[in-house]
Amino acid sequence: SWLNMEGQLTDLRHLASVQGLVLNCRDITDRVKAETRLRENQDRLKHLAHHDPLTNLPNRTLFKERLNQALAKARRSGEQVAIVFLDLDRFKKVNDSLGHEAGDHLLKDVASRLRTCIRQSDTVARLGGDEFVLILEDIDQPGPVIAVAKKILGALAQPFAINGYELYVTTSIGISLFPSDGDEATGLMKCADVAMYRVKQQGRNNYQFYQPDMNARAREMLLMEGALRKALDHNELDVFYQPQLDLATGRLLGMEAMLRWIHPEQGILCPRDFLALAEETGLIEPYGYWAIQEACRQNKEWQDQGYTPVPVAINISQRLFHKANLVSRIRDILEQTGLAPQYLELEITEGMVMDDVNRMQSTMQQLDDMGVKLTLDDFGSGYSCLRQLTHYPITKLKIDQNFIKDVAISPQDATITATIIALGRGMKLEVIAEGVETPEQLRFLREHQCRQAQGFLFCHPLPPEQLTKFLDKNA
Ligand code: C2E
Ligand code: MG
Ligand code: MG
Repeated sequence: SWLNMEGQLTDLRHLASVQGLVLNCRDITDRVKAETRLRENQDRLKHLAHHDPLTNLPNRTLFKERLNQALAKARRSGEQVAIVFLDLDRFKKVNDSLGHEAGDHLLKDVASRLRTCIRQSDTVARLGGDEFVLILEDIDQPGPVIAVAKKILGALAQPFAINGYELYVTTSIGISLFPSDGDEATGLMKCADVAMYRVKQQGRNNYQFYQPDMNARAREMLLMEGALRKALDHNELDVFYQPQLDLATGRLLGMEAMLRWIHPEQGILCPRDFLALAEETGLIEPYGYWAIQEACRQNKEWQDQGYTPVPVAINISQRLFHKANLVSRIRDILEQTGLAPQYLELEITEGMVMDDVNRMQSTMQQLDDMGVKLTLDDFGSGYSCLRQLTHYPITKLKIDQNFIKDVAISPQDATITATIIALGRGMKLEVIAEGVETPEQLRFLREHQCRQAQGFLFCHPLPPEQLTKFLDKNA
């Protein structure tokens, strides 16, 4: 206390008693270094606690902090804040078919593309899985938010190069606005989520602003779930059949069974209206087996009535295919209904085949040994590895109807369709086109020697009593 900050004596009176000064100097370089290191460590820990290790984007914790800050600021300034919530479409398919490493790689690349879509001051965070969220601040009109949403869709539209594959990824984007959709973080997030869910329902790869009536829709889905749970007990499920024809002779080659829900108020519902819900709730399992059982029973009944036997094809969900007891349940169904195995065909999709290759191969082999046929449905839309296909006992490729839709007007779809037909011929597989609606499409298929087809041009899926007019009594 004798000395001031500069080391000068503060009071001359003390001088009299001073007999000497001991200067105590210490080199504090090490301490400063240690302190810097400590601070760096703390910063790193703080960074880790607030960022997602895979993409290095802010995580859920930091996102919440930033959102609350942004909302507090907007409350003072009167500006709006937009929450842009996005979920990759069918990301699970990539993970399942190409493995988690490829999935991680894709998420990283998506993260860096998202960074390019926003201003420095905005936040993009990863909430987990394939969910990302953006906070856009200082908004005074929807225009710039729409621009960002479109920029994201555009940025992801370019293919991703992952492990030698070219992957195409789309995303569904839900947007909520402060203050019009809510005044606190949780409510706003819920609104963005509801809007995103709506995009998924309407076919994905798009964006939507939250609308208050979307909540009513969410409630409706809940009611629907309750009704779907009762559908089987109330005998509301049905199977329709679509003929599959030989293009050279016009003869009936077989039919595809399609599940229908005869809803007491809404009438005949197609899988598009309830299949996602059935998958989500697990109801797809009892309903899927019910459909197989019913289609086998019906097919046997037609044979017993003297119609020329033809196979019935049934779509089978991923969930069923991955259950260990699929083979024994199919065997039981065939035994119970008395249908010979060669009159049952199972339709599976590419994604299912590429997943867990060894187990799939063994399941398919057992079905093949039993005499049940396997068709690859929606072929061309997934990521199948052609070499792997040759290892599976598949007998038929079904060209995805999206290619058939524009086959007569899009050179690209025409090339793909022609290539699949040639591929099938080369691999000694049958090829069938589905979704044939116009004579032009039919002409294209005939010209390219596709032998089998189904579609509205010939016949819509019909209830069993109406299908009999296609069945043939003289072999
Ligand atoms: P999918 O197996 O690719 O079936 C073809 C879908 O296209 C059917 O729709 C069929 O009605 C429709 N379709 C047939 N011809 C035409 C046409 O010319 N033009 C157009 N635009 N569409 C046509 P649906 O019955 O609504 O079935 C949709 C999907 O639901 C099916 O696609 C299949 O993946 C699934 N599904 C249908 N029944 C079952 C089932 O019993 N179990 C399971 N797990 N899935 C099923
Ligand atoms: Mg099918
Ligand atoms: Mg299909």
